[in-house]
Amino acid sequence: MSESFARIMNQHAPWHLECVICGATYSGLELRYRCECSGTLDVIHDLSKCELTREELDRRLGSKNPLDKSGVWRFRELILPLPESILEQIAATRGEGSTHLYETPTLAEKIGLENLWLKHEGENPTGSFKDRGMTVGITLAKHIGMSAVACASTGNTSASMASYAALSGLNGIVFIPEGKIAFGKLSQALAYGAKTIQIEGDFDDAMALVQEVCDTEGIYLVNSINPFRIEGQKAIGFEILQDLDWEIPDWIVLPGGNLGNNTAISKGLLELYEVGIIDALPRLAVIQAEGANPLYTAWNSGEEMNPIKAETIASAIKIGSPVSWRKSMRGLNKLKGIVTEVSDNQIMDAKAMVDADGIGAEPASCATVAGIKRLVSEGIIKPNEKVVGVLTGHVLKDPKIVVSYHMNELPNINSKRANAPIRTSADIDEIRRVIRQ
Ligand SMILES: *Cc1c(COP(=O)(O)O)cnc(C)c1O
Ligand SMILES: [Zn+2]
Repeated sequence: MSESFARIMNQHAPWHLECVICGATYSGLELRYRCECSGTLDVIHDLSKCELTREELDRRLGSKNPLDKSGVWRFRELILPLPESILEQIAATRGEGSTHLYETPTLAEKIGLENLWLKHEGENPTGSFKDRGMTVGITLAKHIGMSAVACASTGNTSASMASYAALSGLNGIVFIPEGKIAFGKLSQALAYGAKTIQIEGDFDDAMALVQEVCDTEGIYLVNSINPFRIEGQKAIGFEILQDLDWEIPDWIVLPGGNLGNNTAISKGLLELYEVGIIDALPRLAVIQAEGANPLYTAWNSGEEMNPIKAETIASAIKIGSPVSWRKSMRGLNKLKGIVTEVSDNQIMDAKAMVDADGIGAEPASCATVAGIKRLVSEGIIKPNEKVVGVLTGHVLKDPKIVVSYHMNELPNINSKRANAPIRTSADIDEIRRVIRQ
């Protein structure tokens, strides 16, 4: 343990950590990811002192302060309330967040909704919402004096960590499941200079190994078991509300893999409600892939989550043992939430719709739209309800899958919306014929 770390650990933070199972509390800067009882931890803020208002948040939209320009640090009092003077020095920010909320009338009509918006988290600096959690995780790593950070990842977490670690002069180490990571994401981890370790195993194996290594090697773990990552991701919900001029949608819908993101959105919205910035809450729908559905199964049975061996084309949600399942269920209960599942074919067809609308997103993101479609057809989401879907990652993350889909070459997928390239000879008459067809 470094000297500066020991010094910081004794410092007081205005928040504390609390176990999701037994409620035991720990000081805010203690280096731990789990309780003695093995439960995961939440960051608990003292919201009684929070004086943040809508007016102040709206004022920050026009500010040039780098903290205000970030769609995460704009909400800093609710995320990591360190003194402003410290944050100005250490915040590892690339201006993450401030992503587009697209109004999508064409897509809405196809699905049978009057109002559908898509919050495109693929527009973050490294192409996924992971940047929102990472800016906070890496900032905390700097604050407590860590020199190396690590994560296990299906891809986007490693892409994000590699970038933010490089930006901050920290050593980044990523553990990825061998051969199971989308090329765009692997490229990013390598390009940003992270030490990239490919494990012979799946995400769940990589996750178990990285936790052990971090414990013994003095490396800071920035998977979503890290509660500060969750704090940053809360800003997706904050921003959706601010984008809608603080009008509350009926539903927020997003995919669920390790379940950190829905945990974050519900925690954040409940806190926004507690400080009086909003006066009602949306409902939450979490969409899982059929082959990676442990939350869906647990939610329906009312029992504890049982790990499964995950299999889905949507690699970002191919997780069989989600670390945040308890927190996720807690949030779902408080937000009158629901969980549903969709097939890989439904995910890819929904993706083709989102892509062809000119927006585009990676496969896991489009579980959102496939899920909305299912919930509308089942009458759970009503046609006149206002729905916001979260698109979690960029269309270019997984180009191989996109091309294979449009060539109708994906095993077990019937590409209903294929747009295959048309081969012609270099002959003007033939090209004319093709164009006129
Ligand atoms: C990480 C990720 C998810 C899953 O989010 P969880 O917090 O693990 O549930 C979904 N889509 C994309 C693109 C991701 O990168
Ligand atoms: Zn505990």
